[in-house]
Amino acid sequence: MSRIVLSADRTLTAGHRLLFDAMLAGSQTTMAPPWLFAPLLLPAHQGGFPLGLRRVEAALLRDGYARDEVAMQAPESLRVTAATRVIGISTGEPLGRGMNSNTMTAVVGGTIWPQDRFQELMRRVASRRGSARLVVGGPGAWQLAGDAEARRRFAIDHVVLGYCEAGIAEDFRAIEAGTAPPVLHGRAPAAETVPVIAGAALCGGIELSRGCGLGCDFCAYASQAMRHLPAAHILDDVRINLAAGQRHLGLLSEDVLRWGGSGIRPEPQALLRLLAEVRQLGPVGLLQPDHANLCSVARWSDDELAALRRLLAGGDGWVWLNVGVEAVDGALLQANGGTAKMAGVPTAEWGAFAAAQTVRLARAGFLPFASLVMGLPGETPAHTAAAERWVAALPDLPIAVFPMRLAPLTEPWQGPVLTKAHWRLMRAAYRRNFRWVPRLYAQQSRSAGVGLGRRLLVQALGLGQIAQWSGLLAWRQWRSA
Ligand code: SF4
Repeated sequence: MSRIVLSADRTLTAGHRLLFDAMLAGSQTTMAPPWLFAPLLLPAHQGGFPLGLRRVEAALLRDGYARDEVAMQAPESLRVTAATRVIGISTGEPLGRGMNSNTMTAVVGGTIWPQDRFQELMRRVASRRGSARLVVGGPGAWQLAGDAEARRRFAIDHVVLGYCEAGIAEDFRAIEAGTAPPVLHGRAPAAETVPVIAGAALCGGIELSRGCGLGCDFCAYASQAMRHLPAAHILDDVRINLAAGQRHLGLLSEDVLRWGGSGIRPEPQALLRLLAEVRQLGPVGLLQPDHANLCSVARWSDDELAALRRLLAGGDGWVWLNVGVEAVDGALLQANGGTAKMAGVPTAEWGAFAAAQTVRLARAGFLPFASLVMGLPGETPAHTAAAERWVAALPDLPIAVFPMRLAPLTEPWQGPVLTKAHWRLMRAAYRRNFRWVPRLYAQQSRSAGVGLGRRLLVQALGLGQIAQWSGLLAWRQWRSA
């Protein structure tokens, strides 16, 4: 008879083995027939929940709620009783306004799966909630905080913004008592008091650091200073995930290369030592980081990068890594808040610097995913043409490039219109991506022990999607202004 029920949509609770699997599922739109794709890309729940929701659970248990009062429930087995006072939902994409989502839907059409599954979860909650209050948080909460009409549509009582573990138990008591405001600003704890998770995180998620604070105008992490979690916390989170049967761990940080360092100065040996300790804790497969800053790459030597890749992969094979180029024109990036991110690289040299660091990563055995933002304020067709030339000049190495449509953080929300120059850039980038990303998937899923039949099926669907994307990109370029 749980007083608090915590859940998240199907894309965030599926039994993904690897972080890449979760990204693949989160990039599908409803134009991909669910009867064909969902059984392959959304495997049955295996106990993993989004890391942030696991932190909320741990904070509630630490700060006064009893274990039998807080239940984590997958959306397909949501059980709300008369005793349930609060339903807490974590979401990454409630309205489909994130950069990746609004790029995917611009290409393929339809609704991005995380938004579609969030809406499905909201319908499920509506039919079961009784008098329980509904609170929504997570990395996509900003989309609801500024949109009162959307909150009304889903009958959401409260939205919690940002990291919140320091005060979430108190906030939940206020929510139960009906005294909390519609939008709550989460109270973030010091890194040392972030609660250790109490169960498996989605994709074996391990938080190395939170926030970023480098100030890019187009980023929700711009003003949240980076805090590294202490090694002891990280190792405890690893133990919990391993005990729950997770073998492949996602290492979450906006700049994994800065963990253990000070300010923007990395400390490579600290991260290498930490990862060696992680590998001693049990049968760990792939350690998959998500993001790194190019200026941090520049501060790691080639040998250190190669040692890092070996520790992450635990053997041969690529490790993918998101690196934000964002604009190949340094002046354009600087005009959009990128000064701190560029860390003293002269504006005229930013494009060449970004290419050189991306190449160094590829030579060290990584498969960098370089992101470019389309539609930045002040961007001209000449900027986009320069970006297309930048992509075309990259050497024949495993490097993927993902141009993303800007996701404004302001209301009323309106994404930029993509022009012919943008679609040309997309086509240049995806010519590379169609070559390298399927190989990455094949390699990673083989080493993660995915069965041959499943791998072949996903690869066959992938080939179909490549054909579909090639046609759509050409069509959109032809139709655009
Ligand atoms: S460097 Fe990356 S994470 Fe940090 S503020 Fe800029 S875009 Fe955001």
